[in-house]
Amino acid sequence: MSTDFDDLVRDARDTRHLAVEAGAVAATGAVLARLLPGREAQVVADPATWAAAGPQVEASLRRAGVALRPCRVLTASPALHADWEHVEALDAAFAGHQAIPVAVGAGTINDLVKLAAHRAGRPYVAVATAASMDGYAAYGASITRDGSKQTQPCPAPLAIIADPPLLAAAPPALAAAGYGDLVAKVVAGADWILADALEIEAIHPAAWELAQPPLRRCIADPGGLARRDPAVFADLLTGLVRTGLAMQVARSSRPASGADHQFSHLWDMEGGGHAAAHGFKVGIGTLASAALYEQLLAEDIDAAVAARGPWPGWEEMAERIAALHPQPAIRAVALEETRAKHPGDAELRRRLALLRERWPALRERLAAQLLPARTLRTMLAAAGAPVDPALIGVAPAHLRASHERARTIRRRYTILDLAEELGTAGRWRERLFAPGGFWGGPAGVSAR
Ligand SMILES: [Zn+2]
Repeated sequence: MSTDFDDLVRDARDTRHLAVEAGAVAATGAVLARLLPGREAQVVADPATWAAAGPQVEASLRRAGVALRPCRVLTASPALHADWEHVEALDAAFAGHQAIPVAVGAGTINDLVKLAAHRAGRPYVAVATAASMDGYAAYGASITRDGSKQTQPCPAPLAIIADPPLLAAAPPALAAAGYGDLVAKVVAGADWILADALEIEAIHPAAWELAQPPLRRCIADPGGLARRDPAVFADLLTGLVRTGLAMQVARSSRPASGADHQFSHLWDMEGGGHAAAHGFKVGIGTLASAALYEQLLAEDIDAAVAARGPWPGWEEMAERIAALHPQPAIRAVALEETRAKHPGDAELRRRLALLRERWPALRERLAAQLLPARTLRTMLAAAGAPVDPALIGVAPAHLRASHERARTIRRRYTILDLAEELGTAGRWRERLFAPGGFWGGPAGVSAR
């Protein structure tokens, strides 16, 4: 894919340089020397990402005349995660010098360095070792503290450097996860269209242009990941970085995340741990969201609005939400988040009137944005991502319950909210989990 990257970073707030090309890693030093002349650098990696690119990056920095602090290789047993203790370790390391951190790694290293660099009051450079998630260019770092994952606001990297042959050499599960995170933008985009049409959250045109128009092309060849075709890895990474830039421009994760991510966040909160890759959970969430959209597109909206029962006031809704979440910490989040978006009766009537009025055009726009859930399932499977929820530890009954819970843990408006407000959520769930429904295959596992 030919992309004018200078044009891409023009609207970005933090990122001044983006390179996705063979040989990009060897130019890291030249990029740093140009953007921040005279500054020292310190590479931060974990043992695997150090082995993948650390020596190459250091050699490039030396060639460009950049003075180097000894590299910092973070380790943890059994695996390194973006946990708060490592941010504190980097705080201590960065306190002793003014060197520019060069994060050599994927999601974990990037998130840790992003936050620690910000806390040390300096920019950083990201060298991507895997096309595993959309966080490289995102504003904010996702860090686990006291058992819960939180996004901490902090600037995106000054430069992002990705070498497609290097990405293609990473463990295959990483790109499969990145593919799941990117495919999610199909349904996340539909959620944004919905929120825009119902005058809940307007589409940010520059962010939309960054993330959405190239999306179909970037997800077109999932089989190329298994073939380790560097061009396909370049497309995947470019799509992920474009979404991150869209988040920078919008200063919000809306361009990257809708109901798809709400499923994933819910499972993160319920599991409290690091069980499955982010992109794998998001991939299953994407299928759930796409299947719900198929129900919406098949709905007679006038009839649904006419048949809708009374809308609960906040007190009643709060009772329902409390009953949905057995864990007190999640219940508290759900009450706060849902309250922030709970419409009054008059507001809901206005919203549903808008929906009826705009439905023919909105339906057409959604249909053009979306892909069938079964097509998305085939694409995810071709990329090597799990398409059976059981493979990420979500049993059928849990998936079904998640359809009710996921809506409540974030205030962002999605298809899950419309289903609730239209009064069709229960009926759609019945259909999706019945035999022959998308989730209702033989013995309750997803049909292939
Ligand atoms: Zn994501």
